[in-house]
Amino acid sequence: MTNQEKVFRPVGGKLDVVALEKAQIARWVEQHAVERYLARNAQASSRYSFLDGPITANNPMGVHHAWGRTFKDLYQRYHTMLGERQRYQNGFDCQGLWIEVEVERELGFNNKRQIEAFGIDRFVDLCKARVDRFAALQTEQSKRLGMWMDWDHSYYTNSDENNYTIWAFLAECHRRGLVYKGHDVMPWCPRCGTGLSNMEIATEGYREIRHLSLTIRLPVTTPGHEDEDLLIWTTTPWTLSSNVAAAVSSDLSYLLVEGRDGRRWWVSHGSKDRVAGDASVLRTAPGRELVGLTYQGPFDELPVQQGVDHTVIAWDEVSDEEGTGIVHIAPGCGQEDFALAREYGLAVLDPIDQFGIFKDGYGWQTGRFAGATADPSEDVALDIAADLERKGLLVARDGYLHSYPVCWRCGTQLVFRLVDEWFIRMDPLREPISKVTRQIQWLPEGIGLEERELDWLRNMGDWMISKKRYYGLALPIWVCVQCEAWEVIGSRDELQERAVEGWEAFEGHTPHRPWIDAVEIACGSCGGRSRRITDVGNPWLDAGIVGFSTLRWNTDPAYWREWFPADFITESFPGQFRNWFYALLAMSTVMADEPMTRTLWCATSTARRCTRARATPSRLRRRPRRSAPTSCAGCSVPPTPR
Ligand SMILES: [Zn+2]
Ligand SMILES: [Zn+2]
Repeated sequence: MTNQEKVFRPVGGKLDVVALEKAQIARWVEQHAVERYLARNAQASSRYSFLDGPITANNPMGVHHAWGRTFKDLYQRYHTMLGERQRYQNGFDCQGLWIEVEVERELGFNNKRQIEAFGIDRFVDLCKARVDRFAALQTEQSKRLGMWMDWDHSYYTNSDENNYTIWAFLAECHRRGLVYKGHDVMPWCPRCGTGLSNMEIATEGYREIRHLSLTIRLPVTTPGHEDEDLLIWTTTPWTLSSNVAAAVSSDLSYLLVEGRDGRRWWVSHGSKDRVAGDASVLRTAPGRELVGLTYQGPFDELPVQQGVDHTVIAWDEVSDEEGTGIVHIAPGCGQEDFALAREYGLAVLDPIDQFGIFKDGYGWQTGRFAGATADPSEDVALDIAADLERKGLLVARDGYLHSYPVCWRCGTQLVFRLVDEWFIRMDPLREPISKVTRQIQWLPEGIGLEERELDWLRNMGDWMISKKRYYGLALPIWVCVQCEAWEVIGSRDELQERAVEGWEAFEGHTPHRPWIDAVEIACGSCGGRSRRITDVGNPWLDAGIVGFSTLRWNTDPAYWREWFPADFITESFPGQFRNWFYALLAMSTVMADEPMTRTLWCATSTARRCTRARATPSRLRRRPRRSAPTSCAGCSVPPTPR
């Protein structure tokens, strides 16, 4: 026997990493290593508060989760070694549309009608069971990863505590006059039957899609302009039957050119080569000379179009980088169009229902689906093109590839629809949240993370907090059936005190639909009956409140004060600036007027790719901008061209 063989035990030729890891974990269990680790600094005077961003408990963990969780564990271990007291609390995100969509898939459902026929109570129970199942699985996966957390005390965003703390936040917003019911055009998923907030789309909701684009002519009806047409271009033909105006830029130069069949066409100077080729130019005029012209709409024969005056309006957002430099305006189908309708007092036609189906009054389009169909032969856009061709209004058709918003849960192409939703007014909060944002140390330094958040805060629109769905935060808004006055209830106790009906049916249940919907209160204005709106909340409310709900803000103010604000939050980059960080900042500003964390670290090796803050369009755009917004790799928010 050689000396070497005496010192080292021979090892096999194969390395079984999995077996080694399992043996190591078994050793930790045997030695109670995790329990000893968690208790080690329990009496320490200094504390280190880590706030875990909840993982969505909807599927097994992926490798990207393991990566982020390794960083979280590493930081907590380091501070354990420094002798600091910690909470070691992991969180699960447990409510919202993402879970509903998976349960719908399990049940083979395709739309909301099937859920209601199945029973909202059974459906919500299945959603809860699904998150319980995957939270348990993710817990086991995390233990297997060697992550040492206080797994018996994880937080769940579907807990009563979490939901009721959001109620307190919303009641405070209402006290400050920030909650309102808005009538506006919002991006809408016709499959899920719900609106999407702009921040949900800004972060992950665009796909490159080819659509049919149409150039059509609209005959001018103002005397003295016989034989003249306005040319407009659209990639959303379904909106043409709701056209009420055409917009030009006052400052752009427009040309009257020789068209076909004895007609003369108005197009912008910059679009002429693209739209009218080498047609001879008959006249030149600035856009302001076209403002006020009236024209014949593309679907004037429809009942809904009776009495609508079609006019040319001025809009300084019109550019001639795409299309004809004359923009078709349908206020029921676009956010900017709707804003223009308010400004100019235009008619608003509201063409489609929650499933994207044309309502009555739209002739042959009534009953048809407005969005993209799986079978192209059923595409309403083709029939609209054929109809316009028959009427002699179609000038050109083409395919157009552009970034188009899709539902981030189910992939369905979105439509824009006039809706009644609930919002938090962000203008009064813009500066206070920005101030709080500046108090946080954003790491890594030097890559503009703080500026990135501030940029979003400068440009964000109001926060749409409602969803017409089933499993989520029950928005605590009760509306009087007699006088329509509404109130925001701030806690379970307040609801119990105010309840005049249905408390017994609700008691013993979580504050979810349908059980919470049984509770009626007396109207604070007229004494009549108030019922809860049936909407559920935006899921980012659930994750945004955890700096309060998980630290016993409701029940133990001293404990909350001890652990708030956190010292450290870390999440992967990019993707949180407009959702979790934003929700945390907004809720922390309203509830405490201080940051939810002292330091925020964006973990990624690719963070350096984005080295400048990007101009964010203030609202989701459907139109070409005068100049395209700049973008960074990995965080681009393209405008959706028309
Ligand atoms: Zn959807
Ligand atoms: Zn009332």
